[in-house]
This record gives sequence, C-alpha cells and structure tokens, in this order.
Amino acid sequence: MSERRGLLIILSSPSGAGKSTLSQRLLQWDPTLSFSVSATTRAPRTGEEDGLDYHFLSEEAFKRQVSEGGMLEHAHVFGNFYGSPRAPVQASIDAGNDVLFDIDWQGAQQIRNSALGGHTLSIFLLPPSIHELHRRLQARGKDAPEVIARRMQKSWDEISHWDSYDFVLVNDDLDVAEARLRTIIEATRLRRTQQPWLTDHVRRLQTEFEETL
Ligand code: ADP
Ligand code: 5GP
Repeated sequence: MSERRGLLIILSSPSGAGKSTLSQRLLQWDPTLSFSVSATTRAPRTGEEDGLDYHFLSEEAFKRQVSEGGMLEHAHVFGNFYGSPRAPVQASIDAGNDVLFDIDWQGAQQIRNSALGGHTLSIFLLPPSIHELHRRLQARGKDAPEVIARRMQKSWDEISHWDSYDFVLVNDDLDVAEARLRTIIEATRLRRTQQPWLTDHVRRLQTEFEETL
C-alpha cells in the first residue's frame, strides 16, 4: 500500500481549557485539516451553528444513528449525548487527509481501541490552574452559572485521564500551545507508518545501490 491514510488527531481537556480555540487556530494553519463535527443532544449555545459547530440532534435521532453504526464513537457527557459521525471521517482519512477531533476521554479511548487506533494521535490539554480554568469558563460567557459549576465539578474526571494520551500540553500562553501543537502534528506526520510510500522509495534506492556500487 503506498497511499497514506489520514491521522485522527484527538484533542481532549476539561471544559474551558482551550480545545475549541486551539482547534480553530489549527484549522486556519492547515487547510488540508478537517474538523470532525460532532453530533450532540445538547442545546446550541448563542452563536453556534447547526452543521458547523455541532449537528444538533434529538435524543431519538442520536440513538438511531448509534444503532445503525453511524458513530465512530459516542459518550454521555454532562448529561447529554455526544458522538462523532463515522462517514465524513472515513472519507477524509481514506483521501489521505487528517481529521481533528474535540472529544472527551471516553471517545478518545474508543477511537484508540478501534481498527483506526494505529492512525490516532491523542493530545491532552491541561489548564495552568483550576482557578484559571474557572476564570476561562466564566470569561467565555456562554454557559449559565449552574452549567459552569457542573463542568467544574466534572473537570477532575476528565483531568484524571491525562496519562492515557500520547502528548500533554499545559495551555498557558495560547501562541506557545499552538506552536507546540503544530510541532506535534508535523512530527507525527513523519511517523514511518504514515509514510507508506517509503517502502517503494527504499526499494528504488536498493536497486540504484546494487547497480552503481
Ligand atoms: P474548550 O473548547 O476546551 O471548552 P475554549 O476553547 O472554549 O475551551 O476556551 C475557553 C475560554 O478560554 C475561551 O473564552 C477562550 O478564548 C479562552 N482561552 C483559551 N485558551 C486560552 C489561553 N491560553 N489563555 C487565555 N484564555 C484562553
Ligand atoms: P461542549 O458542550 O462544551 O461543546 O462539550 C462538552 C464536552 O463534550 C467536551 O469535553 C467535548 O470534548 C466533548 N465532546 C464534544 N463532542 C464529542 C464527541 O463527539 N464525542 C465525545 N466522546 N465527546 C465529545
């Protein structure tokens, strides 16, 4: 096989640590990267667009998609269902393009354990402090105080899985975190298994070597 299969690049963190912000920056940096638009049963936040930020589904529609095998992974997070629709991801990676996921630790675990696990790059973002995490959730200004309180309560559940990830970054300075993410992605694209054409290249080198030396 000489065709490259795209990477599944997973970003996880407690809510408010910066996944959406950094995802947006990565998508601007590399136009070949696509974002896996999740399906969710939660209500849209102000400014969120159906099909762009999420596919907003009823619980019935969500469960139907799961039962038909249409989700690559899915989980119950903060009282709502979230899942990654399978078809667009499969199309992108089959075309050799990398896909970015903003999903929780349960989804990351399911993808890692799937047939696509060998093409997964997982990165966990830690906040500089719990105080700063709380400040960011408030500064985002999109969630009601009780929603923020629930997310803070659940933040430790998410943080406790930090050590299952390939890479871990503290998102303190945004520019530094973005630069480090780019480095991680660029290095992972050079994994031997991500460059299947190398087998042919080395074979040609061998022929040339044998003919000339
Ligand atoms: P998540 O997607 O992980 O829930 P967001 O990307 O929505 O988090 O970030 C939460 C808030 O924190 C947003 O208002 C965002 O602008 C801000 N933020 C993200 N990263 C940083 C950072 N490194 N420094 C300061 N503020 C940040
Ligand atoms: P939010 O409601 O703030 O957009 O997302 C809440 C949490 O759900 C975040 O931790 C986010 O990463 C996670 N999440 C979003 N989409 C998915 C998904 O498709 N699958 C899983 N497992 N988690 C998701």
